[in-house]
Amino acid sequence: MGTKYIFVTGGVVSSLGKGIVAASLGKLLTARGFSVVIQKFDPYINVDPGTMSPFQHGEVFVTDDGAETDLDLGHYERFTDTNLGHINNVTSGSIYQTVINKERHGDYLGATVQTIPHITNEIKSRIKKATTQFKPDFLITEIGGTIGDIESLPFIEAIRQFRTEVGFGNSLSIHVTLIPFLPTSGELKTKPSQHSVTNLRSLGIQPEVLVCRTSKPIPKKEKEKLALFCSVPQDAVIECRDMKSIYEVPLALEDQNLAGVILERLQVQDRKPKLEAWEKLVEKIKNPKKTIKIAIAGKYTKLSDAYISVVESLKHAGYKHDAQIEIKWIASDECVDMERAEEALRGVDGLVVPGGFGVRGIEGKLNVIRYARENNLPFLGLCLGMQCAVIEFARNVVGLENANSMEFDENTPYPVIDLMVEQKHVQGYGGTMRLGQFECNVKKGTKAEKAYGTTKIFERHRHRYEVNNEYRQQIADAGLVFSGVSPDGMLCEMVEYPKNDWFVACQFHPEFKSRPERPHPLFAGLLDAANKHMEKSAKQLAKV
Ligand code: GLN
Repeated sequence: MGTKYIFVTGGVVSSLGKGIVAASLGKLLTARGFSVVIQKFDPYINVDPGTMSPFQHGEVFVTDDGAETDLDLGHYERFTDTNLGHINNVTSGSIYQTVINKERHGDYLGATVQTIPHITNEIKSRIKKATTQFKPDFLITEIGGTIGDIESLPFIEAIRQFRTEVGFGNSLSIHVTLIPFLPTSGELKTKPSQHSVTNLRSLGIQPEVLVCRTSKPIPKKEKEKLALFCSVPQDAVIECRDMKSIYEVPLALEDQNLAGVILERLQVQDRKPKLEAWEKLVEKIKNPKKTIKIAIAGKYTKLSDAYISVVESLKHAGYKHDAQIEIKWIASDECVDMERAEEALRGVDGLVVPGGFGVRGIEGKLNVIRYARENNLPFLGLCLGMQCAVIEFARNVVGLENANSMEFDENTPYPVIDLMVEQKHVQGYGGTMRLGQFECNVKKGTKAEKAYGTTKIFERHRHRYEVNNEYRQQIADAGLVFSGVSPDGMLCEMVEYPKNDWFVACQFHPEFKSRPERPHPLFAGLLDAANKHMEKSAKQLAKV
């Protein structure tokens, strides 16, 4: 079978969870033994989201091959358990950049360069590139934004052309739409969806499947109406209700035979899905036996999407303990002294200091880390979180007063974190950091080795600064163990403080590799310790 193409568009409003729908469909097809790759088209002009503020756009997800991508790729990887790369996130910016570069090279031989065909051809070439690279049974392409947006028009046009070229039996369009509930009349309204499909049709695309986001069950009458007005068969009007957990969505869609309907339309023989393990997982998620409280101390705490992979990784590790995770968001810039830090951490069983950039909130991060180190509160530091752990240790244990990272204080007397050598001459932003998967050697006998069960690991990076080797010996002599280093020994990738039950930090981002059914070892380590911490606190309370 050649690759079959599925396109996912969104209607009525943004933030509909198209990414979760695409990822869930990916899950249902992989559960049937098909290979599935998911690609995201983002209509904005940034070449990639790497330069965008997490406040605006949420987390930047990093792939093995070092692409800085939309956070939906995280969902795709977690649901389909497939590692993606550069080709899986295509922005208008990257399309225009390629076309303009070609024009400057004279590749268009004097032609007038236009949206159609040059931009649309470049978009189609990215679909073909993903096909050649992965040779999947199914390539699912999600188009960001909402139908009706000006900026997504070239993508929609490219899909219209592509569908004609590959044939309608080989491609399919899913429109994810919203069915709002009007409390005053007590009704679910289908009209916005009808208009959205009319709009899509005017662009030359007739969807074969409607996925309807809704807060309430959609009555049969409304489904019939949607089918009639949108020219979609009734069995292809799929309800997608708000769920407690995103991991329930594939099962809810399976109940309505979404994959079966799609396979039939694409003339592919359906297979029995293997979803038992996923069903068990969802059972656990729905019936937690306890709650473990973890603090995340960061800068972007007002938008939890900014740390979405961290939050998901914590949940994955929690499932192992039949636990749900309650996150306590700590705005690190408010932890201005140790009293405030202590107060912020009261009642939590673990602390995560995630990645980040810039000086704001750094002193507060140092305070919460210090509290965790001195009070044996389980701690996991990620990237910037590790750099802060090293600074804190240098200041408060080694005695290097005002030690800092050169990122935050260029005049620090002790630059224990410094710009990486290869970064010193880098100019410009976007794709210029140390990015993607690198090998790391884990020191024998450390907590890290125990957690991973091996001494050779591969993890994903996104940073410019590193531990300054000039201070390594001094810091190690004072008791912080460098438990992971690059194969040449030059880059420090992990530290741990052996006196504590779990005080581990890494220069890389383990959160990008955690899977719901396979929590990342470092998050599992944190949660094991947090679970014990919670049991200990409960016993102490009982004694009182
Ligand atoms: N700002 C730090 C650096 O560039 C940490 C980056 C991060 O946390 N991703 O090295």
